[in-house]
Amino acid sequence: MTRYIDVNDVSKLVQDVGMTRVLNSMASYIEQDYRRWHTFEKTARLASHSADGVIELMPTSDAKLYSFKYVNGHPKNTKADLLTVMAFGVLADVDTGYPLLLSEMTLTTAIRTAATSALFARFLARPDSRSMALIGNGAQSEFQAIAFHDMLGIDEIRVFDVDPEATDKLVRNLAHLRGLRVVRGASAADAVRGADIVTTVTADKTNATILTADMIEDGMHINAVGGDCPGKTELHADVLRRARVIVEYEPQTRIEGDIQQLSAKFPVVEFHRVLSGEQKGREFPSQVTVFDSVGFALEDFSALRYLHAVAHERDIGIELDLIPAPHDPKDLFGLAAGVSHVDLVRRAVVVRDETVIHQ
Ligand code: NAD
Repeated sequence: MTRYIDVNDVSKLVQDVGMTRVLNSMASYIEQDYRRWHTFEKTARLASHSADGVIELMPTSDAKLYSFKYVNGHPKNTKADLLTVMAFGVLADVDTGYPLLLSEMTLTTAIRTAATSALFARFLARPDSRSMALIGNGAQSEFQAIAFHDMLGIDEIRVFDVDPEATDKLVRNLAHLRGLRVVRGASAADAVRGADIVTTVTADKTNATILTADMIEDGMHINAVGGDCPGKTELHADVLRRARVIVEYEPQTRIEGDIQQLSAKFPVVEFHRVLSGEQKGREFPSQVTVFDSVGFALEDFSALRYLHAVAHERDIGIELDLIPAPHDPKDLFGLAAGVSHVDLVRRAVVVRDETVIHQ
């Protein structure tokens, strides 16, 4: 049987357990999996581009589990009251190939992306970071704000979006959070000024320059989430040239990340090397660091692994008849025809006998 978790199940899980606990648990699953980086089969995701968007498949596996996520990116969708990013995914047993879990992954992607951003920032941002600019106040933004508030101790968020209604919504949704001051910026430059961390999470299918080199201050950490597709970037190339750039999986980020603007020789560090201690994250306090986030399949694998564990623990979701279970695994036809193999043999005999009688 395959467990099925829908949007209501994940929403109820977040309400029952609490957003911060779910974010922290997911971050620790992601960290565990990054720490065993070499046990994974890795590939850049398979992207199908169209004029206004992209649909992607993101597979990975270890010796025991296989996962894939279907995800899109259509920045124009919100104009038609549709989501920019939506997703679902599957976790399967490598031994038999049987799917264990089919899950919604739209909410889950927002949580895993924020958990990943905060996890990376723990190793890259200055430990005394207290303020964060948040540019792009759409669907992902609250998750980012809460993750950085809870996991890094950020107590001031400076927000800006070209759509003031998106900022209104973000301010409203964060109003209940104790110990977090939300300040509206008059522009991206205004929001960024003096911030310790800058998160860019905008959606526009263009080579945007949300951040330019003149906006960057010594010691900043930039969490660049929205540039995640060929022809869709957020940082001016000079911002990257000035920084130490950390990536998830280099072959994918070279194609999709902000570093697509630079030569293939531009130096980057894969995060697992920082976790293993092979490379430093931040080398010195005044260094500018950039997490060029594009979203890697391993993070979805971790998210599905977490959901699968809590689904069993808390009896979330339902069991689906997704895969046939015939009495005789070689008799799939019998299942399709609604009869067993024995029934079919019996019918064949009757037909033969009737044929004989009518001759
Ligand atoms: P969304 O459409 O809900 O919100 C995007 C917001 O960006 C909108 O409110 C829009 O007005 C704003 N915006 C666009 N251009 C801007 C600009 N120049 N300055 C300021 N604000 C601007 O989208 P979302 O679901 O929040 O996703 C945001 C981005 O994050 C998308 O590009 C998406 O592809 C990306 N994303 C990345 C990952 C990852 O793992 N790296 C995961 C999920 C989403």
